[in-house]
Amino acid sequence: MKFIFDFDDVLFNTKKFKEKIYLSVEKVGISRDVEETYYKEFRKYAFSLKIFLTNLFAREKKRSVSVDAIYEEIMSDCERLLNKDLLEIVQKLSASDCFILTSGDEEFQKDKIRRSGIEKLFSEITVVPDSKREAMNKICAQYKDEKVIFIDDKQKFLDDLDLAKCPNLKTILCDEQGLEKLKAEIIK
Ligand SMILES: [Mg+2]
Repeated sequence: MKFIFDFDDVLFNTKKFKEKIYLSVEKVGISRDVEETYYKEFRKYAFSLKIFLTNLFAREKKRSVSVDAIYEEIMSDCERLLNKDLLEIVQKLSASDCFILTSGDEEFQKDKIRRSGIEKLFSEITVVPDSKREAMNKICAQYKDEKVIFIDDKQKFLDDLDLAKCPNLKTILCDEQGLEKLKAEIIK
């Protein structure tokens, strides 16, 4: 059995991470309102924290603030923001059976994963710009004789998958019961 995990809001507490971004930016004198407005505008694109901070500081005329220093401060929280319960499950599985399939800006996603310190628990980490369909087809075809479990917090990513091409795929929506649903699949 293979297990494919989404990263944001599944392995990682992205809501708390966003809160950390707000607090760090607030400290340099940019109000939450200003930041939230720009965040909503910027979020339409694959999110890169470095580009977001660079643009926001330029717009708000904070040119003396070091983007790198704020970036480092925010990213230093990555390991603390992992989903500990889920991580416990992953640690018991073999790395050769575990994959990450996440969408967004490749450099930023990989940096978050690297700084979370969990790379070694996964045999493959794939970052796609948006749809996970093609990457999922590939993994399911590669392991066509095994059951493939995919856990994601966004229904839209699950709805987008091509189930006809992935007969061995079972999806799990990572809601409040997500962890229990995953555990049930493992002991099946
Ligand atoms: Mg997610």
